[in-house]
Amino acid sequence: MTKPTTTNTGTPVESDNESLTAGTQGPILLHDHYLIEKLAQFNRERVPERIVHAKGAGAYGELVVTNDVSRYTKAKLFQPGARTESLVRFSTVAGEQGSPDTWRDPRGFAVKFYTEDGNYDLVGNNTPVFFIKDPIKFPDFIRSQKRLPGNGLRDHNMQWDFWTLRPETAHQVTWLMGDRGIPKTYRHMNGYGSHTYQWINAAGERFWVKYHFKTDQGVDYLTQADADRIAGENADYHRKDLWDAIERGEFPSWTVHVQVMPVAEAEGYRFNPFDLTKVWSHKDYPLIEVGKWTLNRNPANYFVDIEQAAFEPSNVVPGIGFSPDKMLLGRVFAYADAHRYRIGTNYAQLPPNLPRAAAVNSYSKEGAMRYFYNDASVPVYAPNSFGGPHADPALAPDGGLWEFDPTMVRAGYVEHVEDGDFTQAGTLVREVLNDDQRDRLVSNIVGHVLGGVQEPVLSRVFEYWTNVDPDLGKRVEEGVRAGLDGASTPAPSQG
Ligand code: NDP
Repeated sequence: MTKPTTTNTGTPVESDNESLTAGTQGPILLHDHYLIEKLAQFNRERVPERIVHAKGAGAYGELVVTNDVSRYTKAKLFQPGARTESLVRFSTVAGEQGSPDTWRDPRGFAVKFYTEDGNYDLVGNNTPVFFIKDPIKFPDFIRSQKRLPGNGLRDHNMQWDFWTLRPETAHQVTWLMGDRGIPKTYRHMNGYGSHTYQWINAAGERFWVKYHFKTDQGVDYLTQADADRIAGENADYHRKDLWDAIERGEFPSWTVHVQVMPVAEAEGYRFNPFDLTKVWSHKDYPLIEVGKWTLNRNPANYFVDIEQAAFEPSNVVPGIGFSPDKMLLGRVFAYADAHRYRIGTNYAQLPPNLPRAAAVNSYSKEGAMRYFYNDASVPVYAPNSFGGPHADPALAPDGGLWEFDPTMVRAGYVEHVEDGDFTQAGTLVREVLNDDQRDRLVSNIVGHVLGGVQEPVLSRVFEYWTNVDPDLGKRVEEGVRAGLDGASTPAPSQG
């Protein structure tokens, strides 16, 4: 039998189709409560989109640990044989909710693990590095990638203006302009924790660690031309691909690895290991396998499971901690703050954010849309003499601690011997890319720059790429000059 339509409070309604009016020609009456409720609810259906990573797709899955890394961490989710339910949200960065999935952009790779010790969130990207290394530059950087205030258009000149004025972007921009700047699908890209984190073992020893999720589907990409075409044909290409693959039972998986650096080695390492624009060379710190991470369940409701999902780098569990990576520390504040604004004070009580395997015994109370609450017999303050929860340092994460110089300064990262804004970007171009990949890199850069970059930014673009690699700089300049001299200027590609 068909269920009767009701109001939000369960009362059967008279009509799904006709509003209450004074006569057939008459005005609509204000006491048609169901009509008012329906229109008012509709007006409030959207929550603000994320200021970054607005467009995405997600799925549920699980992590299965296949190796023994217990000598590095006591975190329960990484113990041999452990299985932990997980949620992921993949995304582009600069585009809005309806923007094409195939714009050139890094991809978000935000993972939540529902562990026995509470939620652990690893909020990474499909690149091991980032454009900037101090959170004070984050709003500036993002604004330069979004839209001009006057005409509301994206602007390549603004993007390159920021990139060339902040040369620490060179490593990430080399990635962005290369093949990996547009993954074939979300299934065909690696994920990286990107930041340096801390692992703490049962004996209390600390290690620096970086996460690598290597796709079992193989890394694959779209050319600029294919991506531009697909953007017009199906803006949701990557969202659909992920959904369809999981519906078909083709569950995508990634092999999870870490690089581990003993704390004592950090100071003398040739690159500053906390600088988010640098990687740790695989040759120095080989990948150690941890386990298999598989996506096997589509969301039941996109809004509830994915749009309301709140990933936050502040969610760490015992055995895992932070590091002196300033971007990480900035994000530890910023993500929870964004969720309070975007979803509301009690966002942690919503289904995708609610711990599955751990109890919540918090003293937080009340606020808009409170759903779970403590029994009235539980005191609302701590300490108390009436049986309320009490903090136990033996159980808690102690990942907020490390040895550091206590002087308060505003300073750049301490430069290690091989640091430099262009060093690793140059290594990638000369030693990792082959001739075909280098050709496409040049072509992607030239196409992007011809999309509206003007002097004085243009000269800085040539200098920037010459600093990455002199030959690359020469080829970019020649390509751009030929394009500018040519009869027809190519249409700018988006992204
Ligand atoms: P390696 O030669 O040991 O590693 C190079 C790595 O580059 C590969 O393992 C692969 O990482 C990645 N790679 C391969 N093709 C491309 C591509 N077209 N675009 C971007 N990355 C690619 O050298 P190092 O570890 O010393 O690093 C050298 C350079 O390689 C770095 O400057 C960095 O740009 C890049 N790189 C390094 C990574 C690291 O964590 N050390 C990770 C990724 C890139 P993967 O298996 O993760 O795909």
